[in-house]
Amino acid sequence: MLKCRGCGEHMEFITSVKGHRIPVDPEPVQFDVGSVLDATYVSRSGVVFGKGSIVQNGDPLYISHFATCPKASDFRKKQNKKTEAT
Ligand SMILES: [Zn+2]
Repeated sequence: MLKCRGCGEHMEFITSVKGHRIPVDPEPVQFDVGSVLDATYVSRSGVVFGKGSIVQNGDPLYISHFATCPKASDFRKKQNKKTEAT
């Protein structure tokens, strides 16, 4: 099993139907039909479902590691403003 160079977590590559190698977390996620995806997922067969896609069947999906990798958040602006009273 591969490890991410950014965060050190385990990941796998799934080759998409378009031939791209997509890093994903190794644990598949099972969604109910009709669920709206909150991130990019890839099926075992390489079909990519973007954020906002609606789940059409019960196949397990693998979340893109870009969605979970803490190192990938460099291009996303975190808006977790913690207001802590000291
Ligand atoms: Zn990572």
